[in-house]
Amino acid sequence: MPTSRATPPDEDFATALRRSRMVLDFLAQLRIPPNPERFIVVYYHQTGDKPDLSKALNRLLSHDKLTALALDELYDEFFSRFLEETQLRDAGQRIGKTVAEVADCLGEASGSAQHYSSVLTRFTGSAGQLNTAPGSADPHVMAELSEAIGTVLSETRKMSETNRLLEDRLQLSSREIDLLREHLDLLEREAGLDSLTGIANRKSFDMVLRESIALSTREEQPLCLLMIDIDHFKAFNDAHGHQMGDNVLKLVARYMKECVKGRDTVARYGGEEFAVVLPHTRLDAAILAANIIRRHVAAKKVVNRRTGASLGQVTLSIGVAEHRPGEPASELVHRADEALYLAKANGRDRVAAETDLPAHP
Ligand code: GH3
Ligand code: MG
Ligand code: MG
Repeated sequence: MPTSRATPPDEDFATALRRSRMVLDFLAQLRIPPNPERFIVVYYHQTGDKPDLSKALNRLLSHDKLTALALDELYDEFFSRFLEETQLRDAGQRIGKTVAEVADCLGEASGSAQHYSSVLTRFTGSAGQLNTAPGSADPHVMAELSEAIGTVLSETRKMSETNRLLEDRLQLSSREIDLLREHLDLLEREAGLDSLTGIANRKSFDMVLRESIALSTREEQPLCLLMIDIDHFKAFNDAHGHQMGDNVLKLVARYMKECVKGRDTVARYGGEEFAVVLPHTRLDAAILAANIIRRHVAAKKVVNRRTGASLGQVTLSIGVAEHRPGEPASELVHRADEALYLAKANGRDRVAAETDLPAHP
């Protein structure tokens, strides 16, 4: 697997050299020790290729807060996930290529098989002529037959050779596919994706939530969290089977993603629980967003594709909380969770906010 890089835009040698020197001067002026990650962040800032990064960097600079740690955080925010996504794309392309090779192999095999079968058909024709003239072995027919037998023999040898080569190639390709699949699983986990639903997994949710809180604190922006749990999911599994349950988890993840904007993160928190991080969002707007998700999912009918049978409706209970200045991520999760349990206690298929909790100040 080739190593992927965050490749800067094409530029000539002189420009690249000038920029590199500017990056080092920039870091030296701030007395920040250069390392490859910090270099990349400042380099992209100089190219102006990532406006969001430049905006965040300029804001830190104007508040005198551009430290080595802040640059490391910017790297994590803007590049570490980019690298993982690029690797995933590469792995996907390699799987596509291997599958195309297998298809080629099979195409060749069917070509050879067709040729072989036409040789056999011709041979049956010659043998048939012999059958129609019992006892009168015409030397012409005999000669033709002997030639035909020779051809069949040599074609059979060729076919078995082709088959052996084909088998070797197919075995190689299937080994390659197995390796790529294992690699893709690993990359998915490393990239923080849940392998069933394809959305962020718990590990990357924890990271995204921490980073989003840090960013909204820096930007003095509100941030909300939704904790979401599928209602009576055990009963669904019991009635329709675990595999059908898995399909529902995939569908619910997809429907939730359809309801959110680009900077929001939908994650699988665990089992049949999900979480949505909503930066730049106040509590009242987050409650609206939660109800949009709840209604969108409830409006869909779950159908068994194989039998066409309707499996009814899936509903969600959702708890909403807004981040309070200075509180750690765990407290925000805890409050959203409490609101979620209130939504369950109040009858499910509903949204409850932290302001609905009895202990709310
Ligand atoms: P409630 O409305 O109170 O949330 O009821 P519930 O049945 O959804 O909650 P409970 O916690 O009793 O059960 C959760 C169920 O979710 C049980 C478990 O089998 C199912 N579940 C968890 N993870 C998965 C999964 O990955 N696939 C499938 N198919 N089911 C799962
Ligand atoms: Mg649950
Ligand atoms: Mg549940």
